[in-house]
Amino acid sequence: MATQNAARLISDRIGDVEINPYEMMLQQLDLVREYSDIPEGIWRILRHPERTLEVSLPITRDDGSIEVFTGYRVQYNSARGPCKGGIRFHPGVTEDEVKALAGWMTWKCAVVNIPYGGGKGGISCDPTRFTTSELERLTRRYAAMIYPLIGTRRDVPAPDVNTNAQVMNWIVDTAQFMAGESVPGIVTGKSIEMGGALGRHEATGRGVMFVTLGVLQRLGIELDGATVAVQGFGNVGSIAARLLHEAGARVVAISDVSGAFHCPSGFDMEAVLNYVKDSPGHLLAGLSHPGTEEISNEDLLTLDVDVLIPAALEAQITSRNANDVRARVIVEGANGPTTPDADLILGEKGVVVVPDILANAGGVVCSYFEWVQNIQCFPWEEEATNQRLGRILQRALREVWSLAEEKGVSLRLAAFILGVERVATAIQLRGVFP
Ligand code: NAD
Repeated sequence: MATQNAARLISDRIGDVEINPYEMMLQQLDLVREYSDIPEGIWRILRHPERTLEVSLPITRDDGSIEVFTGYRVQYNSARGPCKGGIRFHPGVTEDEVKALAGWMTWKCAVVNIPYGGGKGGISCDPTRFTTSELERLTRRYAAMIYPLIGTRRDVPAPDVNTNAQVMNWIVDTAQFMAGESVPGIVTGKSIEMGGALGRHEATGRGVMFVTLGVLQRLGIELDGATVAVQGFGNVGSIAARLLHEAGARVVAISDVSGAFHCPSGFDMEAVLNYVKDSPGHLLAGLSHPGTEEISNEDLLTLDVDVLIPAALEAQITSRNANDVRARVIVEGANGPTTPDADLILGEKGVVVVPDILANAGGVVCSYFEWVQNIQCFPWEEEATNQRLGRILQRALREVWSLAEEKGVSLRLAAFILGVERVATAIQLRGVFP
């Protein structure tokens, strides 16, 4: 679906820096210019994050020593509503990565048309080195340091890579002490007992499933027995794999940081999930499953499957391996898994890529539901959440698909055009302060 023009522009501009996520996000953004009449001044605003906060985070380790970590919170744009975006604990977290992720959140919230801007946060650390009490101290220190920026009506964090409901619970509790009042809507992805939404834990994977079904149907690919490979067997990947398996697809490959496994006849997902639940670090390492062989993570990305779901980290499909990708459809569970150069190659090969800002938007849509429930102090049934989630994602897919057909562009470019134009309109309607 990608046009030659769009492709050339990416390749020319991105050069050797394809794996800097912020450069990547800006290059994707710049492609919209050709298809849009957004005024030049508004472009200047769109290309800059509103606020970037860097914090240093000293914590006392259990052995009494002190270590200092660096954390970030970026508010990319708040024209459409409070900033919204996850918090990541990972050694690869940098200011540029957080800026990129905050930008993608901005366009994502606009694509699915929920009343949020985009933000993101993270701490550069290896959380596997911490005990639970060290992780709690680091989280609380980070929450206190970014507290001036976050708030129910300002900026609402959520879980991302290596953070979960417990981390969100610590943030709410810290914020409550700082605010002197209950502030459940200050983060989403909390435990249900703390005001979390039923269905939030599964929402991103469920969204990946909804979008995959919608795309397969449009492409005339039979779901029953369609083969699926999933890179990253964490929150997003494992849930997407389970739900697609339940819907009738055949999950033939899975991987995580500990290794990759290939089972051409299809995994028994219940058995795999039970294994991971009890395995050290909840990892796939050591998985023994009939008809399964261990492969490399690189091999997983190039298997001959109907659907490839990268659900780990960014820059996994690059110019180095895109030519070898044999999947018919890529549904981006992770944020930024495909570099622009790879996108060009995949477009030329006719691979349909469902972009992250649409494919993994289920999480933020359900976060929005959680926030609404917190503000109204009125919890919903899980069924209502799942139905509304399906409706919002199906509408977004319909809009992106039609725009892609109308303009003759890739789904990624169509999603960017839709999202960026919505943000640009909000900025124009507000005017530039002062
Ligand atoms: P997670 O920490 O639960 O899972 C990440 C998984 O990726 C883990 O299984 C890890 O072992 C695996 N992994 C890491 N490096 C890998 C590699 N090189 N090869 C194979 N596997 C590898 O995180 P998550 O919440 O599932 O997030 C995954 C991606 O989805 C991230 O890009 C995140 O930004 C994005 N995302 C998450 C949500 C959400 O609600 N959790 C929402 C939208 C987007």
